Amino acid sequence: MIEMKDVWKTYPNGVMAVNGLTVYIQKGEFVYVVGPSGAGKSTFIKMMYREERPTRGDILINSQNLRLMKERHVPYLRRDIGVVFQDFKLLPSMTVFENVAFAMEVIEAGRDDIRKRVMNVLDIVRLKNKARFMPHELSGGEQQRVAIARAIVNSPAVLIADEPTGNLDPDTSWEIMHILEEINERGTTVVMATHNRSIVNNMRKRVIAIEGGRISRDEVRGAYGYES
Ligand code: ADP
Ligand code: ADP
Repeated sequence: MIEMKDVWKTYPNGVMAVNGLTVYIQKGEFVYVVGPSGAGKSTFIKMMYREERPTRGDILINSQNLRLMKERHVPYLRRDIGVVFQDFKLLPSMTVFENVAFAMEVIEAGRDDIRKRVMNVLDIVRLKNKARFMPHELSGGEQQRVAIARAIVNSPAVLIADEPTGNLDPDTSWEIMHILEEINERGTTVVMATHNRSIVNNMRKRVIAIEGGRISRDEVRGAYGYES
């Protein structure tokens, strides 16, 4: 499913963010990525959805080698990988429906397909009744649920979440976690970078800890393992 073999990333300014990282994530897994600030978590995750290219080493997603992937094929990768960010990144001038539909329009899905599937994913994130709302009319948790709907609308094999609860209060964070867990139970692989110790320690999953751009710990039902 996701395979990284001796992956290195040095940024143009010389910062060595990832230093020889090897990892294998199977279909259907739920993985937390933890570690101190500056450890390389975001770089690791960005390389998975081809936002950053590795300097060296191979990254295979569903047997496609991202290092060799041509620029024009990247939009198609977005069908296999959905991404959710800490700051939601919704398009402010589009309704909830349009924000989610947009991800299907980009891959040229038909209009009837789009309507059915968008309402279906809005149902999964429990926002069917707010399809016509604008993002600014929603709470933070609701905005994140729209972002999740957008990320899964094309039925990706993998959902990547970079600090998805970073801007949310504890109750809202748990709502988001239950939705991510439900999506995982339907078969989607979930990879989530987080600083949320309470979530990691209470919803036990595989934990990959990164320090100095390397994996320092990889546990099947791991704990957060840091003080804050
Ligand atoms: P984390 O997500 O664990 O905080 P990052 O992957 O963001 O870690 O950063 C790892 C290291 O790479 C840090 O030293 C950071 O300053 C550096 N870094 C991150 N992004 C860039 C970039 N675009 N250009 C240069 N250095 C970067
Ligand atoms: P750019 O390269 O110009 O940033 P992108 O294609 O990366 O354009 O993103 C366009 C919009 O779609 C952004 O708001 C981004 O957050 C969102 N987006 C991109 N890829 C995904 C994805 N796989 N899942 C969910 N949203 C995505």
